[in-house]
Amino acid sequence: MEELVALCKRRGFIFQSNEIYGGLQGLYDYGPLGVELKNNIKQSWWRSMVYDRDDIEGLDASILTNPKVLKHSGHEDTFSDPMVDCRSCKARWREDHIESSKCPSCGSEDMTEPRPFNLMFKTSLGPIDDGSSFAYLRPETAQQIFTNFKNVLDSTSKKLPFGIVQIGKAFRNEITPRNFIFRVREFEQMELEFFVKPGEDEHWHKTWLENRLDWWEKQGIDRENLEIYDVPQEELAHYSKSTLDIMYKFPHGTEELEGIANRTDFDLGSHSKNQSELNISSNTQENTDSNAKLAVQDIETKEWVVPYVIEPSAGVDRGFLAILNEAYSKEVLEDGKERVVLSFKPHLSPIKAAIIPLKRNNEELVELAKNIKNSLQALQLGRVVVENSGNIGKSYRRHDEIGTPLCITVDFESLEDGTVTVRDRDSMEQQRMASSDLAEYFKNYLIF
Ligand code: ATP
Repeated sequence: MEELVALCKRRGFIFQSNEIYGGLQGLYDYGPLGVELKNNIKQSWWRSMVYDRDDIEGLDASILTNPKVLKHSGHEDTFSDPMVDCRSCKARWREDHIESSKCPSCGSEDMTEPRPFNLMFKTSLGPIDDGSSFAYLRPETAQQIFTNFKNVLDSTSKKLPFGIVQIGKAFRNEITPRNFIFRVREFEQMELEFFVKPGEDEHWHKTWLENRLDWWEKQGIDRENLEIYDVPQEELAHYSKSTLDIMYKFPHGTEELEGIANRTDFDLGSHSKNQSELNISSNTQENTDSNAKLAVQDIETKEWVVPYVIEPSAGVDRGFLAILNEAYSKEVLEDGKERVVLSFKPHLSPIKAAIIPLKRNNEELVELAKNIKNSLQALQLGRVVVENSGNIGKSYRRHDEIGTPLCITVDFESLEDGTVTVRDRDSMEQQRMASSDLAEYFKNYLIF
């Protein structure tokens, strides 16, 4: 983990947030390369969910959430972790994260009994902060998908089964943020709520598990480093009938990367008025705050049905850490030099190609490099840069270390015959190629 953290800072993937003021615990900022990798992960997920299918629509809803939403979703009452205090050094811990009853900080056994600590952040709305008008920062993106269920259904005429996805920030006041970007207080989620007919939920739960495993593999995660954890009944979230967690072997240990929950009709039911009419199985508290009927009508029987929901919920930040960890390797080359490589799948690499003029600041070479950059950039397959440092060995090392799959060198021969050298990051093989063939080569290399 230390090597990854150091690389992230050195090369501009991730920085400690608010660093010049001493930082703020549990928050990180994504730098120039980090934002590219993160966007590529999100794009790849969006493409697989929305563009490659016809049964899923997207959404981008507000972060600030009406407290009534989180009252009826059950979060106000139950979205908490068990907290214990050390009476000796006053440190606070999440009880299920400490191994014995001893304080991990000072070793004292004088600990309080666990008590629930609600993880939601609150903020006030409007100019007067008297506590009467507040909103929550959403703790998951899911709830606004449920509250928009009818809007999306009516505007798209979807039929069951269908899904709604959202990527966005979520906030949790974690008691002990830790392990770099694994457990933070502000993070991003990529969530799908897939609505199905009651009775078909178990089939779809298994189907989505397979689909998600397959997707992680396509992002470069070795299947051997993934495990499935069938969450036992006593550990299930309040809304879940069954949850299958995809666990990844992170550098600090095997922990959850994505949770796939069968949320039944709990959420749509909870947010609906006149629940008794709807015959909802898992919800008993009558909702008088809502004005919605979040249900679909069966065309034949005319009965109203509250769909069940399968929710694959993945953390962008945890995905980033897993993908970075898988891509990272250190090799000793024949000349004894060390080579650090990030072997990202090309569609995820922050920079797709670096065009390197052999001689720094040579006008003709730089101009040719810029022309090649512009022609590859115009293909819109990701970021292409001109690397005008003049030291070819150093340029290769830098681009290996940030995961650029292709380095294209232009030299004096290029000016004469239009050929360039293309070096592959993973094999380190170099081939001479006509620059007029580059676009086709680049497309074939990157199209995923
Ligand atoms: P954990 O048990 O690790 O606290 P969780 O079961 O509470 O996680 P979910 O509510 O299922 O997590 O959230 C879905 C996904 O959101 C998780 O699989 C994870 O990838 C991500 N996630 C949740 N909490 C955090 C966090 N504090 N920091 C970063 N990512 C998070």
